[in-house]
Amino acid sequence: VRPDTDKGAQVARDDRAHVFHSWSAQAQIAPLPIAGASGSYFWDFEGKRYLDFSSQLVNVNIGYQHPKLVAAIQEAAARQCTIAPSFADESRSEAARMIAERAPGDLDKVFFTNGGAEATENAMRMARIHTGRHKILTTYRSYHGATSGSILATGEPRRWGSEPGAPGFVHFWGPYPFRSAFHSTSPEQECERALQHLRDTIMVEGPQTIAAIMLETVVGTNGILVPPDGYLAGVRELCDEHGILWIADEVMAGFGRCGEWFAVDHWGLAPDLICFAKGVNSGYVPLGGVVMSARVAATFDDRPYPGGLTYSGHPLACASAVASMRIFEEEGILEHVRKMADTVIGPRLEEIRAKHPSVGEVRGLGVFWALDLVKDTTTNEALVSYNASGEAAKPMAELMAACKAEGLWPMTHFNRLHVVPPCTTTAEELAEGLDVLDRALDVADAHVTA
Ligand code: PLP
Repeated sequence: VRPDTDKGAQVARDDRAHVFHSWSAQAQIAPLPIAGASGSYFWDFEGKRYLDFSSQLVNVNIGYQHPKLVAAIQEAAARQCTIAPSFADESRSEAARMIAERAPGDLDKVFFTNGGAEATENAMRMARIHTGRHKILTTYRSYHGATSGSILATGEPRRWGSEPGAPGFVHFWGPYPFRSAFHSTSPEQECERALQHLRDTIMVEGPQTIAAIMLETVVGTNGILVPPDGYLAGVRELCDEHGILWIADEVMAGFGRCGEWFAVDHWGLAPDLICFAKGVNSGYVPLGGVVMSARVAATFDDRPYPGGLTYSGHPLACASAVASMRIFEEEGILEHVRKMADTVIGPRLEEIRAKHPSVGEVRGLGVFWALDLVKDTTTNEALVSYNASGEAAKPMAELMAACKAEGLWPMTHFNRLHVVPPCTTTAEELAEGLDVLDRALDVADAHVTA
């Protein structure tokens, strides 16, 4: 990696002068200029290289610049760069067929979007029209996107800036055994109580008003919350009992992240709609979508669907999804993810938990793991408080800095550090990153008070 500090400085100058960044106070940020990336690493213009344990925004599942994926996009660009959604296009047809073939149950038709928020937005619209009902139930500690509906469905602080929004969004508590809203003492009890709470929520909201329950199959940004066995099956039953649709938001959890095509495959279940984006083509070209059941699709057989996007099913994006799914199969990437979870990430994180008092719990599956950090080992009080920023978030900032100093780029959110590397990361690279993490956690241990 050859340094090019002049170019880096120019990139940074133009960025600060003209780029308006997501979720940020514009005067308080200094985005790192990136010179390149390959495989599991990216690097800056100073020549400093980072092992990526964040997969950017948990989307680069196939790793950077995969040569076969780059070649497929180049070929698709030479063949057909763009065509309107109203035509039948080779890449679009093939991507939809391949996604439908991999989707569970009778989920068979795909509406393509440019990303995750548009996917959840359209899934909610489909559910409302299909049921003739208006309410959408989602959990606290969830993220569903930043468009006007998806941000109101979101159950965390990023929603606050968009309030008051539209009526019809109801939040409830999902299962989180380590910090139970139900005072449970086991995953089984958490599952039972969380389902009872959802049943009660449906009762008091009025089932005849509820179009859909939208859940991240495994909650991503808000904590890698893997639902206890039985929870999603219980949600399916509650939905069936009350004519409510189950929308699985798999924008982050799908396409390899959990070692499956769809995270629901882990429990052998079929929702009515699945939202996907991110890992479907690792963001090489923006793409998302909704896969829907035959029943939901049939609602729009003789009634026009009131929604669309100029770039729905963009040929380059769809061609890259086709190529990505093929590469996953040719290279056995789903099998690799499951093996890395069982033989490297899970066992090594458990060692790390046993050694570091600041690590209250490790949890996850696939390449989707969280360390829930505490400052009090008896009460499990979080290392930094919910939504902490500035001085209050300093212990997390110090931990992140310690990782970066040794060339590891993890993801942090509130009091958690997430280990979410590309699905293609090798055992050796994982071991290298987890060793850095092990050393860096001494910084968090220093904040443990009891
Ligand atoms: N849903 C989930 C579960 C997500 O994690 C995200 C993004 O992080 C979204 C929806 C929104 O996706 P996008 O940022 O592509 O609009």
